[in-house]
Amino acid sequence: MAKIMRNHCPVIRGNLARGYDMTDQEHLFAPNFKTEPFWWEAAPRPVLKSETLPSVADVLVVGSGYTGLHAALQTARGGRHTVVCDAASLGFGCSTRNGGQVSTSIKPTYSDLSGRYGNEIAAGIRRVGIDSLQFIDDFIQREEIQCEWARVGRFHGAHKPASYESMAREISNQRPGLEVNAYMVPAEEQRNEIGSDLYHGGVVFPDHAVLHPGKYHAGLLEKVRAAGADLFDHCAVENIESTKGGFSVQTARGPIAAKDIVIATNGYTTNLTPWLVRRVIPIGSYIIATEPLDVALAHSISPKGRIMSDSRKLVFYYRLCAETRRMVFGGRVALRETDPRVSAPKLHSCMSKIFPSLQDKKITHSWLGFVAYTFDTLAHQGKRNGMHYAMGYCGSGVGMASYLGMRTGQSVLHLPEGRTPFCDIPMPTKPLYKGNPWFLAPAVAYYKFRDKLNL
Ligand SMILES: Cc1cc2nc3c(=O)[nH]c(=O)nc-3n(C[C@H](O)[C@H](O)[C@H](O)COP(=O)(O)OP(=O)(O)OC[C@H]3O[C@@H](n4cnc5c(N)ncnc54)[C@H](O)[C@@H]3O)c2cc1C
Repeated sequence: MAKIMRNHCPVIRGNLARGYDMTDQEHLFAPNFKTEPFWWEAAPRPVLKSETLPSVADVLVVGSGYTGLHAALQTARGGRHTVVCDAASLGFGCSTRNGGQVSTSIKPTYSDLSGRYGNEIAAGIRRVGIDSLQFIDDFIQREEIQCEWARVGRFHGAHKPASYESMAREISNQRPGLEVNAYMVPAEEQRNEIGSDLYHGGVVFPDHAVLHPGKYHAGLLEKVRAAGADLFDHCAVENIESTKGGFSVQTARGPIAAKDIVIATNGYTTNLTPWLVRRVIPIGSYIIATEPLDVALAHSISPKGRIMSDSRKLVFYYRLCAETRRMVFGGRVALRETDPRVSAPKLHSCMSKIFPSLQDKKITHSWLGFVAYTFDTLAHQGKRNGMHYAMGYCGSGVGMASYLGMRTGQSVLHLPEGRTPFCDIPMPTKPLYKGNPWFLAPAVAYYKFRDKLNL
């Protein structure tokens, strides 16, 4: 896995080539420890029959995560011959690696956004966040995808008193018409939500949800297959040239001509699309799963089965799996990209500070994936050089990638509803940035320092 990841991602390729320190804390690893996603146990990477790539398609989708598959579902159901290619196995990217936490996904506040783009676009963007959560709920129910979907709610802990105050201000000053359901939980009542005294209270978002990322991807893939799309794994798209009627494309499995192209590569974007690679910042997100907890311990950790996260700049996000009662705990613990054997003990140590009762629990799985941040901390959807794209979910893309993938598919079909407010805002870059985030290590060090001092 590390080899594919290394070859596949320019950032980790560079850093791992320099070598990494192996951990001396391997006693924390369970005997069956794996460096691949826990989710792949119940939803293994699909093995496809080796079929010949067609020479022509109406729509070529590059990337088989939630974005690509939702776009493909729209175009295939809309009667377009759709081909989906992934450079690795289907769903190899973040869409089978994430924490399965589903929220409204927009980081900037309404006032940030209205300062940047005016009230209408600001309201439109915030509305998309709300709609994306409802969309994925409706989609999973309507399509009957068995992926452990549940509206369990989120507890978001304040790591310092000032964060509690600012959370309280934010939820009491919500823009009319764009309110999200939320209430404050003071420190003295926090044990009703989370088995930890580390936080200074927090906020509960009762509508946030949870799912099994691998099962959701597998269910979605089945729908795309049933809609008639052709799926190709280990089929990197290597070059795209525009032609009179569309695009001439070179892939690892031969050439294909397509009328429309959807770029759905998010944190795995390469120089295939130079304009986009300059606009997304690939960042490794690291995560572990523990051995199953007994019923009483699981209940004390998470009495209401909520998803959980906190207000640190380098946020930790975590949850128990309903079926197996494992803790799945994620965050950014390394300055530079590293190996999951190295990140695992660091995550374990952070988890044990929040939940001392987990300090002797073994790690069964440790993995990572590359999320895509953007310079304005917003996702983006649009069309560039005739190609459709949606990406840049800033680490919060389960709902948003599904939603913008769906809208992108509609856009390929020329449906007016395919247009979102993201089509009306620029996707910024920075001078000299070419896709290698050299500034990441100092930025992570700075945020780590601030979090440590509660600044
Ligand atoms: C550890 C981790 C935890 C996360 N937790 C959460 C969470 O709890 N909640 C949440 O909302 N979000 C979370 N995320 C983010 C979320 O998973 C992503 O935003 C989302 O899955 C992005 O989906 P996508 O389809 O756009 O990209 P991906 O699923 O990453 O798919 C991109 C695909 O493009 C393929 N590709 C790249 N280049 C080419 C090419 N040239 N040819 C063919 N294929 C190519 C890649 O192989 C890859 O499979 C997490 C991510 C990680 C890594």
